[in-house]
Amino acid sequence: MSKVLVYDVKDDVRGKIRAIFDEFAPKLAARQVLVKPNLLAASPPESGVNTHPAVVEAIVLECLERGAEVLVGDNSGSIDRTPWYTAEVAGYIKACHGCFGGISSEVVQVLSGSRFVKSFWVSKAVLDADYVINVPKFKAHVVMTITGALKNTFGYVPGGCKNQLHFKTVGRRQFAELLVDVHLVRPPDLNIMEALTVMEGNGPDAGPLRDVGKVLASTDAVALDATAVRMTGQDPAKVPLITIAHDKGLGVWAEDRIAVLGDFAVIPDFKKVTNGYWASDEAVKTFAELGKIKPVVFLSKCSPCDLCGLRCPVGAIGIIGGLRVDEEKCISCFACVEFCPRGAFEVPSGRAQAIMSKVFSS
Ligand code: SF4
Ligand code: SF4
Repeated sequence: MSKVLVYDVKDDVRGKIRAIFDEFAPKLAARQVLVKPNLLAASPPESGVNTHPAVVEAIVLECLERGAEVLVGDNSGSIDRTPWYTAEVAGYIKACHGCFGGISSEVVQVLSGSRFVKSFWVSKAVLDADYVINVPKFKAHVVMTITGALKNTFGYVPGGCKNQLHFKTVGRRQFAELLVDVHLVRPPDLNIMEALTVMEGNGPDAGPLRDVGKVLASTDAVALDATAVRMTGQDPAKVPLITIAHDKGLGVWAEDRIAVLGDFAVIPDFKKVTNGYWASDEAVKTFAELGKIKPVVFLSKCSPCDLCGLRCPVGAIGIIGGLRVDEEKCISCFACVEFCPRGAFEVPSGRAQAIMSKVFSS
């Protein structure tokens, strides 16, 4: 039997997070903890696009109080921004009390059990952590029904590599299977879903918000997501991401195998997804375009230090004889954009934004 806690937060985010830790994670002393929120975009807290910083802050403080070493990081969807810029706008720099870090700079290639790819890149911080706390935001998602604990770990994958992976699959079921393959690289030890506000309709970044005022938690990501789907009045048996994760041994979704404790309530008249664009073949093509975006370098800004050459995980940057990027080798992780001290590397934002606006306006 899996356990899911659902708490009304009211004004006591910290108290409810403490209760969750008491239940699921009492011993963290001297352990290296990675807190993995959903930091989708450079959007302020009130936009409801990212995991709310109040919940991230309560988790950080709880980990520190229990003696853990804490790192907060995500591979944001904002590939044309540095993680620090995204984190600042999202309210994370203040909320993380010095524990925020860029996790895109060091990546490792992992062999996958996936039928779609032999291997893929993930942030090294994910594999280095003794304990991973996955902190998704409760949002509707136009392909996956909700973006919960199972979907949030797609952020283990850096930058444009996410899009390269996405276009290896066709349609909703295949993409769901790939998301489960990524989740399996490092199943989180604890999942805490922020539902202070919940995004309805055509999430994950364009739906209306509803004040719900809850947090949900479980060590079983499948049970947590299934419970969230039930809160929207939908059936988890019809959500491929959940049933595939169950079939691959990640947890349970059946109602009689989950003990839901606390303040569970169905959200009345939850607005369901109406936009099927993201599940369409057209969206698959668009993601393929996004995955082909490579960084551009402005040589006039470069004062050769070789930091980008050292940081590039695939040796795609040549310094000798003039700085250049080997686009065949480049995996679009954008570590070079993140680390150049002089801002000489940029994501060609005009092209990235054109593609993203095509997706979000569809
Ligand atoms: S050049 Fe290297 S560091 Fe820059 S995006 Fe490509 S793979 Fe990443
Ligand atoms: S990190 Fe920036 S300044 Fe240093 S060599 Fe690379 S492009 Fe030039």
